[in-house]
Amino acid sequence: MGHLAPSSTDSGSSGNIIIDFYWGMELYPRIGKYFDIKVFTNCRFGMMSWAVLALTYCIKQYEENGKVADSMLVNTTLMLVYVTKFFWWEAGYWNTMDIAHDRAGFYICWGCLVWVPSVYTSPGMYLVNHPVNLGTQLVLFILVAGIMCIYINYDCDRQSQEFRRTNGKSLVWGKAPSKIEASYTTASGETKRSLLLTSGWWGLARHFHYVPEILAAFFWTVPALFNHFLPYFYVIFLIILLFDRAKRDDDRCRSKYGKYWKLYCDRVPYRIIPGIY
Ligand code: NDP
Repeated sequence: MGHLAPSSTDSGSSGNIIIDFYWGMELYPRIGKYFDIKVFTNCRFGMMSWAVLALTYCIKQYEENGKVADSMLVNTTLMLVYVTKFFWWEAGYWNTMDIAHDRAGFYICWGCLVWVPSVYTSPGMYLVNHPVNLGTQLVLFILVAGIMCIYINYDCDRQSQEFRRTNGKSLVWGKAPSKIEASYTTASGETKRSLLLTSGWWGLARHFHYVPEILAAFFWTVPALFNHFLPYFYVIFLIILLFDRAKRDDDRCRSKYGKYWKLYCDRVPYRIIPGIY
């Protein structure tokens, strides 16, 4: 389709058929007028199967043991809160790298159709046959810490999107935001303007939102305790994915914004973890 009948002008070939297949050619491929392939793979299939599988693991544990352990309940509750947050914020998702920059190739389609449902839910799958009873205090602690992380991650995304939507006029942590007014040139030679937020969560580090994302995953995994490496596979994968993604995004923004990105890096020197990295 990308070669012969692209759905929009946001499409193109790299000149290498393998790279075209792997990274994709089209940014917004559609079948017919209304069936958006990335909305289907990323949201409808990927994120919904995450929720369905999390519940399925609870049911399986009930079938096997006649009850659901509190560790499984914490794990499932946090995953469901996370997926609910995703759908609550879904319109904001259209502005993220997955939708706005990554083309619909094997990488993203296989990732959302296969990797997300199987790997992202794997801590729950592990818990089916390894029920642990944590006790009320620990359950409450993990639950509150996990929900706080999911909320902070949501608030980071909300802050930058509100800031852009209001053209830099939204309040950030109760104050007028500090910002950089950047300009860039598009592939067609047009000069455009954009705003970069440099206060609030976005003043702590350039990709601070990945910290609560990783910690949330840690909190829905830690009910499995530390007897096996397997349930931690997702958290470790996520750390690698997001550290690589932060670098990819920085490189892309540097070539897009040039001196304005340099100014942003001077003002907000850390990439992910304030004071460390
Ligand atoms: P972002 O939503 O942060 O998008 C990055 C883009 O935001 C940049 O390319 C740039 O785009 C713009 N931008 C960068 N800095 C600023 C700034 N200071 N002010 C305003 N805009 C800025 O990235 P992601 O797509 O990686 O993340 C979105 C959400 O998805 C996060 O919550 C993340 O944790 C989550 N996520 C989860 C994953 C998982 O597997 N669990 C994987 C990846 C993400 P522009 O060109 O428009 O300037």
